[in-house]
Amino acid sequence: MSDTTAYSTTTSTTCVIAGGGPAGAMLGLLLARAGIDVTLLEKHADFLRDFRGDTIHPSTLQLLDELGLKAEFDKLPHQSFPRVAVETGEGLVSVADFTRLPGRYREITMVPQWDFLNLITKEATRYPNFRLLMQAEATGVLRAGDKPDSPVTGLRYRDAEGEHEIRAALTVAADGRHSDVRDAVGMTPVEMGAPMDVVWFRLPREDTDPDETFFRPGVGNAIVMLNRRDYWQLAYVIPKNGFAELERRGVEELRATLDRLLPFLSDRTDQVRLADVSVLSVAVNRLRRWHLPGLLIIGDAAHAMSPIGGVGINLAIQDAVAAANLLDAPLRKAESNRRPVLDPVPDSLLARLQRRRTFPTAATQWIQVQVQNRLITRILAGETPPDVGTAARRIPVTAKRLAARAIGIGFRPEHVRSHSVDRGAMITDQVQ
Ligand SMILES: Cc1cc2nc3c(=O)[nH]c(=O)nc-3n(C[C@H](O)[C@H](O)[C@H](O)COP(=O)(O)OP(=O)(O)OC[C@H]3O[C@@H](n4cnc5c(N)ncnc54)[C@H](O)[C@@H]3O)c2cc1C
Repeated sequence: MSDTTAYSTTTSTTCVIAGGGPAGAMLGLLLARAGIDVTLLEKHADFLRDFRGDTIHPSTLQLLDELGLKAEFDKLPHQSFPRVAVETGEGLVSVADFTRLPGRYREITMVPQWDFLNLITKEATRYPNFRLLMQAEATGVLRAGDKPDSPVTGLRYRDAEGEHEIRAALTVAADGRHSDVRDAVGMTPVEMGAPMDVVWFRLPREDTDPDETFFRPGVGNAIVMLNRRDYWQLAYVIPKNGFAELERRGVEELRATLDRLLPFLSDRTDQVRLADVSVLSVAVNRLRRWHLPGLLIIGDAAHAMSPIGGVGINLAIQDAVAAANLLDAPLRKAESNRRPVLDPVPDSLLARLQRRRTFPTAATQWIQVQVQNRLITRILAGETPPDVGTAARRIPVTAKRLAARAIGIGFRPEHVRSHSVDRGAMITDQVQ
């Protein structure tokens, strides 16, 4: 079908990224820092997204350090915790211990995701070659020809002023698990299945409440309690598509479950209202191929992560760092060879990026699926082991450290190796 839309502007950039989540924002910053012309499109007007998770793990803290952003990051409202615990009914038992991790950072830090993304994009805007377009929604791809396999040469997007086209040597889809760009090129991820959904709501936090962030298994349900200082963020885990049933049973039953599992909340559970909760659908999936000529797909758009372990943000950022490390030189070359059209980034390089990131992603998803199948599915089926406290206490110290490593650092951690114009400027300053 021919496209009859009137496009009000056609611009060009070296790299266009759809999606200002952790993957897109970090890639935007790294490429901008490398002196590459980069345009980041975010469909929302701001980064205020309450239910995207907010855990920043040691691997990401290390990257912030490498980028010289750790001091600014520390100024954001945050809490840190050195362990992940399970509430057994007889007290909290630690199941992952970050205090013995190798490296400088040995804790999980929780920062509202909007603050984190504001920090990253604010840093990127220091570079004149970075362009952030908010309320700009990618609606399709541009192609070099009419064939379905013609190279991707940019994006179509929509903003308040109308429809636009932006051409680029590399187009990146970092637009999350419901990726529009991925849909536009007809790619579908392979689903690994998730037995649960998450009901997301808040309750006030008192000074006398526990300090920890912890998991509380129930019978047919479970709760993750995220300590956000003045309030608790509750992630109430229910069977997949189980919210209608929860609604049918009514809020009183939910309040009673909370009272039973977490008695310290019972003076507040009357504040829970079903109208105020968000229901988050959990998915675990992965694309077979993360690229087409001219197009790279990263983060949740390439591999949606289960919330187990709270690793999705961190993996999305690792993808971005690996992509910048691998692609900054070819992108700078494409920019300098502009004649007037930019040479597309070779597909073989995009394939290399996928090869590099597939193992850490697949290994992490494998663990998530094991936890889903062996623990969450049983809990949701009402088979919570009655001796969960004893079982948690029996976890060997080495296993707790390994769990911390898998969660906190992950497999094949990336380090910032891409070019920095600041470093170049510093060297020039020193020479002069
Ligand atoms: C219930 C739940 C809890 C979670 N908790 C955690 C946690 O605690 N810690 C953790 O690390 N991970 C957590 N995750 C996973 C985590 O949210 C994701 O893995 C992570 O956000 C992926 O980052 P991303 O940048 O790839 O995509 P996203 O964060 O989804 O960002 C995509 C961005 O693209 C934008 N966008 C979408 N479509 C378009 C378009 N057409 N044009 C332009 N922009 C577009 C979106 O507005 C969004 O800003 C959780 C997931 C779930 C479901």
